[in-house]
Amino acid sequence: MTKVHGYAAHGAASPLGPFAFERRDPGPRDVEIDIQFCGVCHSDLHTVRNEWANSVYPVVPGHEIVGRVSRIGSAVTGFKAGGIAAVGCMVDSCRTCPECEAGLEQYCQHGAILTYNSPDKHLGGMTFGGYSNRVVVDEAFVLRVSDKLNLAAAAPLLCAGITTYSPLRHWGVGKDSKVGIVGLGGLGHMGLKFAHAFGAHTVLFTTSPGKTADARRLGADAVVMSRNPDEMKRHAGSFDFILDTVAAPHDLDALTSLLKRDGTLCLVGAPATPHPSPMVFNLIFKRRRIAGSLIGGIAETQEMLDFCADRGITCDVEMIPIQQINTAYERMLRSDVKYRFVIDMASLPRA
Ligand code: NAP
Ligand code: ZN
Ligand code: ZN
Repeated sequence: MTKVHGYAAHGAASPLGPFAFERRDPGPRDVEIDIQFCGVCHSDLHTVRNEWANSVYPVVPGHEIVGRVSRIGSAVTGFKAGGIAAVGCMVDSCRTCPECEAGLEQYCQHGAILTYNSPDKHLGGMTFGGYSNRVVVDEAFVLRVSDKLNLAAAAPLLCAGITTYSPLRHWGVGKDSKVGIVGLGGLGHMGLKFAHAFGAHTVLFTTSPGKTADARRLGADAVVMSRNPDEMKRHAGSFDFILDTVAAPHDLDALTSLLKRDGTLCLVGAPATPHPSPMVFNLIFKRRRIAGSLIGGIAETQEMLDFCADRGITCDVEMIPIQQINTAYERMLRSDVKYRFVIDMASLPRA
């Protein structure tokens, strides 16, 4: 066992603070990673505050992890000590169910083991995430990041990147598509970059007028204030696909009305309380769909990372020392993040 330093929340109302715990030594198939950077996802905040009513404390969040390999198990073939390695939202799954066989481990019928707040089959208790200096993960769930990319700016690809890349690919977004991205936060800014990179006509829907110039720089062809009904009406019935990244409940009818016949509104934002029920007539008259999507499988995450290395795509990040994590959460709740906080793990106290 190795002693690890991290930051944890001990209850829904308590701030994150220093927390020491133990990780397993690497087994034959394990990769041990010294964490350099970890992105801050809104899911971390939902979990820390028990907004999904499934948190088991202490919670050590963090699932956008990049670092250097410190040790490998005897059977590891794909990683070497000193190399770059990354971990996203999952650290294991059953590997035999049809979903796992299809490379869709996130939909494992037995439940994927998430990087934090999931049962830890090795040590008992729950898994602890990337707000820590070290992690040990089975090679099959460790990703490769090109050294061409800035590692801090690549970290949020591991969740914000794949969560937007996967549905845009699944619904075949390309140069003939008109695509909407709702919400310009961590996920939304990567949605803009990918939709633009895939050649789509890309429109941002935002509640923040101050984000217009950034949205255009990030890949938006147009920017719409989603709380202005006149601006919304101008786009009625014109979208092939809309990706909704908003972390709070809101009116879905305003968005489904913008879809063409057979268009899809895909929800990736995961608010703690439900959206108001959508109008059925708004769907049946144009055979529109409301769908959902969860992160992406391991193979697709690697494909996304390779695509990013090829195209030079990374995230727009604001670096913070871990001591600022509680303030960062408050700023995230005010939609005041450009566009992802990343923790520099060198700041972690190691008493
Ligand atoms: P984030 O950085 O906080 O971004 C969310 C954005 O939504 C905000 O920047 C804001 O953009 C917009 N917004 C916030 N409150 C709003 C409101 N009341 N009405 C309309 N728009 C609002 O969060 P994130 O890290 O991107 O995560 C977004 C959501 O996705 C979270 O619920 C998270 O848990 C979930 N998530 C899901 C998956 C998955 O696999 N499905 C993976 C990761 C995260 P504007 O200022 O532009 O309006
Ligand atoms: Zn996430
Ligand atoms: Zn499975």
